[in-house]
Amino acid sequence: MGKPTGFIEYLREIPLDRPALERIRDWNEFHLHMDGKKLQDQGARCMDCGIPFCHTGTLISGMASGCPINNLIPEWNDLVYRGLWKEALDRLHKTNNFPEFTGRVCPAPCEGSCVLGIHSPPVTIKNIECSIIDKGWEEGWVTAEPPAMRTGKKVAVIGSGPAGLCAAAQLNRAGHWVTVFERADRVGGLLMYGIPNMKLDKDVVQRRVDLMAKEGITFTTGTEVGKNYPTEKLMQEFDAVVICTGATKPRDLPIEGRQLKGIHFAMEFLHNNTKSLLDKHRNGSFISAEGKDVVVIGGGDTGTDCVGTSLRHGCKSLVQLEILPQPPVERAKDNPWPEWPKVYRLDYGQEEAAAKFGADPRTYLTTSTKFVGDEQGHVKEVHTIEIRWDKNEKGQFVPQPVAGTEKVRPAQVVLLAMGFLGPEQPLLEQLGVERDGRSNAKADYGRYSTNVKGVFAAGDARRGQSLVVWAFNEGRGAARECDRFLMGRTNLP
Ligand SMILES: Cc1cc2nc3c(=O)[nH]c(=O)nc-3n(C[C@H](O)[C@H](O)[C@H](O)COP(=O)(O)OP(=O)(O)OC[C@H]3O[C@@H](n4cnc5c(N)ncnc54)[C@H](O)[C@@H]3O)c2cc1C
Ligand code: SF4
Repeated sequence: MGKPTGFIEYLREIPLDRPALERIRDWNEFHLHMDGKKLQDQGARCMDCGIPFCHTGTLISGMASGCPINNLIPEWNDLVYRGLWKEALDRLHKTNNFPEFTGRVCPAPCEGSCVLGIHSPPVTIKNIECSIIDKGWEEGWVTAEPPAMRTGKKVAVIGSGPAGLCAAAQLNRAGHWVTVFERADRVGGLLMYGIPNMKLDKDVVQRRVDLMAKEGITFTTGTEVGKNYPTEKLMQEFDAVVICTGATKPRDLPIEGRQLKGIHFAMEFLHNNTKSLLDKHRNGSFISAEGKDVVVIGGGDTGTDCVGTSLRHGCKSLVQLEILPQPPVERAKDNPWPEWPKVYRLDYGQEEAAAKFGADPRTYLTTSTKFVGDEQGHVKEVHTIEIRWDKNEKGQFVPQPVAGTEKVRPAQVVLLAMGFLGPEQPLLEQLGVERDGRSNAKADYGRYSTNVKGVFAAGDARRGQSLVVWAFNEGRGAARECDRFLMGRTNLP
C-alpha cells in the first residue's frame, strides 16, 4: 500500500484555505485543491501499516475511532499514489455514496486513528477523499446508474438529510421505488440548510440530488409527513417507511430575558441565511448581524457556523461562549491514540474571527446568567459569569459559578447553539413509534427496525445529534434491513 518509504520522504501537507480576510467577503467555499502530484505524494505516505485502524469505525470512550462507514482508505491511498484515480473512485463509492459531502465536512476520525499518527502527523485522508470524488465529477465518471430491474415495492423515506439520502440511494439500487419526503423547499437536510455554503457549496448538494432523481428517486419537497401528508395515507401507499427526520429540537436557555427580540436559535439564523442566498432575495428575509455585537452561545460546529456567517454579514464584534474548559494542545494522557483526539483546534470560523478581531472568539468556562433588553424589548446585553467544574458527592462534575468574574457583554444578536434534544415528537407519536430514554426513535443499532412493522429509523432521529458520516452509516444500514424485510434477503452491504 502506498510507497513503503513515503511517510519518511514526504511531510503531511493539506491544501491551503483561502486567506481568512478575503473569504469572509463572500460565501464561496474556503478550501482550495492541491495539485495531482502533491496528492499522489500524500497518498504515498500511507505506509502499509499492517493493521490499519483508520477504517475500523469503532466507538472508543463514546467517540468514533476510524471511519464509521469503513472507507477502504489504504486501498484508495495506494491507487491515488499510483495515479489510478478512476479505480480509486470505484473503491471509494463501494462504501460511501456521497464522498463529496464527507470529503468537505467530516471531522475525519480516520485521521485520529491513523497508525502513522502515533509518531508523525497522520495521512491526509479527508482531502484525498475529496480530491478523488471532485476529480470523478470533473472527468464525467460520476453518472446516473439506475437499477437494471425493479422489484415493484414502494418505500417512503421521511427526511432528506444525509441519512435519508443514503437510505434512498441504497434502496433504489436494490430496485425499489423510493419517494423521499422533505418538509423544506429544498432537498438535503442539514447538508442544505444547516452547514453553510462556505463549508459545503449548495450546488455540490443539488448536483447529487439531481443525479439521484435521474436514477429514479422521487423527491417530494414542501411536504411534512404527519402534517400535510397524513401518516395513514403513507402507511397504505408504501410497503415500508424509513424515518430520517433528524434531531431538530434545539436546546433552549431559559434564563431571565430569554423572550427578548434578537435572541435566536442557531438554526433559524443559519437556515434563513442560506435560503435567502439561494433564493437571491436578501432584503429582510434573514436575520442580519451587520454592524451588531454578536454573542454565540455554544462552542461546537453549529456555533462555528454562526461565527462564520456573522462575520460574512459584517458584525461589529463577536464572542463565542463555551461552558467547557479549553482542550489541551496535545492529546491528554487519558485520550490516547487511536481515540478521537480531544485537542484544541482553530476551526474555520474562529480562524476568521481571529484574523478580523485579533483573537479566537471563544471564551471558555463561561455561562450566561441573564439577558437584558432596551425599552423596545430588544436584547442589548448578555450577563456572564465564569465557572469551574467541581465534583459533587456522587462524583459527578457540576458547574460552580466563580464569584467576582461577572461580566456584561454588549449584544444586539444572540445565537443559541447549545446542541439538540432529539427528534420532534408528533410524527413518531402519529406512527406509534416507541421512543428511547432520550426521546429518539427506538430501534437497535444495526437492525434499525422500530416497534411498528415495516417502519425503520436511522440517523440523528435514532442516535441523537451526531455527524454526517454516522448518518451515512445508519442510512445505508437501514436500507439494508429494509430491503431484507421487503425481499426476505438482501445483497446490500
Ligand atoms: C449547523 C450544523 C452544522 C453541522 N456541521 C457538521 C459538520 O461540519 N460535519 C458533520 O459531520 N456534521 C455536522 N453537523 C451534524 C450533521 O449535519 C447531522 O448529524 C446530520 O445532518 C444528520 O443527518 P440526518 O439525515 O439524520 O438528519 P438531518 O440532516 O437533520 O435531516 C433531517 C431532515 O428531515 C426533515 N424532516 C423532519 N421532519 C419531517 C417530516 N415530518 N416530514 C418531512 N421531512 C421532515 C427535515 O426538514 C430535515 O431536512 C452539523 C449540524 C448542524 C446543526
Ligand atoms: S468519511 Fe470521514 S472518517 Fe471516513 S474516510 Fe472520509 S473523512 Fe475519514
